[in-house]
Amino acid sequence: MRQVELAPGIFHLQGGSNMGLAVQDGKGLLIDAGLDKDAARQALRAAEGLGVTLEAVFLTHAHADHFGGACFLQQRLGVPLYAPALEAAMMENTILEPLYLFGGAAPIGELRHKFTLAQACRIDHVIPVVATLVAPAGATTEVVPTNYPLEIGPFRVEVVRLPGHAPNQVGVAVGEVFFCADAVFPAETLEKHKLTFCVDLDETLATLQRLPGLPYARFAPGHGPAYRAGEEIAQACAANRARLEEVRERVYTALEAPQETPTLLRQVADAFGLRMTTATAYFLTQTTVLAALSSLERAGRVAVAMESNRLVWRRT
Ligand SMILES: [Zn+2]
Repeated sequence: MRQVELAPGIFHLQGGSNMGLAVQDGKGLLIDAGLDKDAARQALRAAEGLGVTLEAVFLTHAHADHFGGACFLQQRLGVPLYAPALEAAMMENTILEPLYLFGGAAPIGELRHKFTLAQACRIDHVIPVVATLVAPAGATTEVVPTNYPLEIGPFRVEVVRLPGHAPNQVGVAVGEVFFCADAVFPAETLEKHKLTFCVDLDETLATLQRLPGLPYARFAPGHGPAYRAGEEIAQACAANRARLEEVRERVYTALEAPQETPTLLRQVADAFGLRMTTATAYFLTQTTVLAALSSLERAGRVAVAMESNRLVWRRT
């Protein structure tokens, strides 16, 4: 794990999944907890190396690779955990991640590995941010706070909504460093996965639009190195936006004739030269294709219909 100091006392712990570590007055605030016990242990060693004890762990979203290590830290240190609403519920009931990937049915064995099924933890502080997707009926984005200031021990942080990649993902700003979770992926991820994971394509695009304008000097993502404010973060966000817009247009293009979801998924994957070699990769990619279909349906460009016991998508 690489330990990069982005500002005095604010570190980006770069590994398979990145974490953040802010230190002040002998205390440490960890942002995300990595995939598992091993990742969490590495974070703990980083904190010990800096001579601080962990005051709290803030978890940005309920994907196993970012909070899987939280249970270990909670049991080992009794450290309090913070997470946004809804994501917190999924962290406490981790079967929900493979359950939604598998369409709500009992997940197959392959979806029960640590990349999609983390050890559950108990969230001590649920942050009441609510994204549009999960807001109660009738609520508007105006009544939903965008930023949420928070004091955790000696740390004054700001919680910022970053919905789209996960339903209620947030980022955490400490001083001039913004830990922006999986709101933006590096070029290598775009190259490898092609269809970057999102549950709400419109919200992801809106988040990517907003991100470069936020008033921070450094942007520390959940994967890949940190970006500087200005051109660096703007370019990364533009590349991510362009990819998701391309995904949506390729889904639309593939609907020259009405298609069932599996056929559509295969055509879009082929068009991107994506080779899915595991069922997990298939289900993750399917979620992004379904998010593109939701977006197109919301815009009135496609509609769903039943034909001879087949669910088909067609252009309107
Ligand atoms: Zn994620």
